[in-house]
Amino acid sequence: MSGNPCEGCPVSCCLKMGLFLPKSEFSQHFQRHEEVLVIRQIGKIFVVSPKEGQVCPYLHNGGCRIYHERPIDCRVYPYIMSHIIEKRNKVKIVFHTRSDCPKKSELYHLMPESEARALIIAFGKKIYGESKTIIAHRESGILSQFCNRFEARLSRSLNKMTLRWKKILSKK
Ligand code: SF4
Ligand code: SF4
Repeated sequence: MSGNPCEGCPVSCCLKMGLFLPKSEFSQHFQRHEEVLVIRQIGKIFVVSPKEGQVCPYLHNGGCRIYHERPIDCRVYPYIMSHIIEKRNKVKIVFHTRSDCPKKSELYHLMPESEARALIIAFGKKIYGESKTIIAHRESGILSQFCNRFEARLSRSLNKMTLRWKKILSKK
């Protein structure tokens, strides 16, 4: 746990963690903790969050027990991945900064935006392989937030519709 700048933070993101995970990170760290987690799978992405009254199973004494092996979604803090928008040949991963982080300046120093972008692209590649172009898009401002939410909803609906049609057509 040494070297963890989040240690002792009163906000502790790990209490309410809602993590996006590729299958490899899910299997390595979280699959065996399903008794304390709500686990959803959205396409190729696993989303884990604690059940009511629970916290991340790796949170211990205000620090992370797997700090040096923690998932990419934890590494990019104080940046947060908020939407993953799948398109035909590309995937746009939207990220923004955590505004209430009391150690933001220290964390920005440890995690420059260029490094966070590289990690987010690596995250996308772990999920989608080399077949899609991964774009890390930093959200800034309310208009950009609104547009990204709208785009994410639209893309989810289109993907669901495509899946439904594929199922219908495969039965014919
Ligand atoms: S990222 Fe910021 S808000 Fe979250 S636990 Fe670390 S110091 Fe606290
Ligand atoms: S894996 Fe570690 S850094 Fe990530 S949410 Fe859990 S305790 Fe926090």
